[in-house]
Amino acid sequence: MNEERQHKSLWTVTTLPRDFPSLPGDLDVDVAIIGGGIAGLTTAWLLKRAGKKVAVLEMHRVLSGQTGQTTAHLTELLDTPYATLLKDFGEKGAHLAASSSRAAIEQIASLVETLAIDCGFTRVPGFRYAETDAELRDLLHEVSAARQAGLLASYTKEVPLPFPVKGALRVEDQAVFHPRQYLLALADRIPGDGCHLFENTQVVDIHDGTPCRVVTELGTVTAKAVVEATTTPLNRVAMHTKLYPYRTYAVAAPLDGPLEPGQYYDSRDPYHYVRTQRVDGMSYVIVGGEDHKVGSEEDTAARFAALEAYTRDRFPVKRIAHRWSGQIIESADGLPYIGRNVGSRHVYVATGFSGTGMTFGTLAGMVLSDLILGNQNPYAALYDAGRVKPKAGAKDFIQENAEVAFRFVADRLARPDGHHLADVAPGEGKILEVDGRKVAVYREEDGTPHAVSPVCTHLGCHVHWNNAERSWDCPCHGGRFSPTGRVLNGPALKDLPSVKLPMK
Ligand SMILES: Cc1cc2nc3c(=O)[nH]c(=O)nc-3n(C[C@H](O)[C@H](O)[C@H](O)COP(=O)(O)OP(=O)(O)OC[C@H]3O[C@@H](n4cnc5c(N)ncnc54)[C@H](O)[C@@H]3O)c2cc1C
Repeated sequence: MNEERQHKSLWTVTTLPRDFPSLPGDLDVDVAIIGGGIAGLTTAWLLKRAGKKVAVLEMHRVLSGQTGQTTAHLTELLDTPYATLLKDFGEKGAHLAASSSRAAIEQIASLVETLAIDCGFTRVPGFRYAETDAELRDLLHEVSAARQAGLLASYTKEVPLPFPVKGALRVEDQAVFHPRQYLLALADRIPGDGCHLFENTQVVDIHDGTPCRVVTELGTVTAKAVVEATTTPLNRVAMHTKLYPYRTYAVAAPLDGPLEPGQYYDSRDPYHYVRTQRVDGMSYVIVGGEDHKVGSEEDTAARFAALEAYTRDRFPVKRIAHRWSGQIIESADGLPYIGRNVGSRHVYVATGFSGTGMTFGTLAGMVLSDLILGNQNPYAALYDAGRVKPKAGAKDFIQENAEVAFRFVADRLARPDGHHLADVAPGEGKILEVDGRKVAVYREEDGTPHAVSPVCTHLGCHVHWNNAERSWDCPCHGGRFSPTGRVLNGPALKDLPSVKLPMK
């Protein structure tokens, strides 16, 4: 059956696909980079530019992960408010978080310019607006926190939106671009001079050492250093207690009236994120939001419906042209983990980017390439992957991990959705109990059934059906599988095993 994504982003449908080869056999390089998203490709390009021999290993197609599903606001407005960062990381930490986001935007701007990449990169202002008095009180507090952290931020009542708001935090010099046009330009430049980009090459094991060994079914890559740029690191339990996967949704609609180019964020929880972009001569408004914990929403299609209604209510649009969804990975203390993996000598990770992975993914490339090259990097200490900050995020840490423990037990004991194949309609996925055993069953539109084990091959939680994307999603650490059980994204490395249904 066709295992392609159910919903494709504006970026995917407006660029040509690429076709990089698979790993042909064993290989030796300086640095093996796992994952062909923004973090992996930026790291690879910066290391190649510095003279290193790199190999990017991507299990599907480049940019088929979260980077292909992004809305690509390039912003210094992080998901964690600056007021919280000041409290938890001090003025210096909040300052570094702000200046590193600025550095990432400028890194992208400089690559766009020096490599002459045609990707619609445009500087725009960003607005976080309040619609209620309570939101306005918090917003005013955030304006002064953002200024204290060094942002070019101000409070304004002049917000160029087609509906009334109470006021907004305005921040200058943010940016928008077409992320796939930008990153395909980097990807195209990676092969050559001893460097490689391999697609359809899944890493199944990593051995730290001198050299490191990165194992795939097509061959083993030996390297002095390994970068896991896989959204969530592969199969590490300690790191996963600090990472929480959320699903988020996006739509793009051609503008049928004026909307000032910019980035706009409301102050709800979860918030909506909006921006403009011109693609192929057409102006779009792109709206994202309706986030929820992975696997916690029964009717994921309803989230698209809510987002479309929000978009039609507020913006001058006649039709929704594209809809897509993806995952964001939140960290325990609100900042990403970028650096040497805990307990490793030569293996590096980049994860926990929350909703600002375009800048943090770029920053990961900057920090990791510096660490591997032995250069100083001013941001390495703040984002250290092994940091322990019991104060920051302590409540979320306990709550999120209590939820994982709850799901681990509750989903095993939960009542099944049915007992017979007939309980699963064509196009649907359900957890059945057959002969005393839980089975995840999907039926194609023509009725053909596919039965797999519902036990996630990462750490053993039970997967849930995602009806909007037609995938089996794990609520514990965000692993996703196709209807037939193939790994769509990590941390799981192995497919869900097939199960034979009794002939009844
Ligand atoms: C709807 C949505 C809107 C967003 N909006 C914004 C925004 O406005 N601004 C912003 O800054 N960020 C935004 N983000 C977040 C941002 O897109 C992500 O944080 C970022 O793209 C993550 O990049 P990455 O390189 O870490 O991961 P990915 O792009 O997911 O790349 C990881 C790659 O690793 C590969 N991989 C995994 N396991 C293996 C394996 N075992 N072997 C080989 N390859 C493997 C995957 O196939 C994948 O291609 C948004 C995300 C979503 C979903």
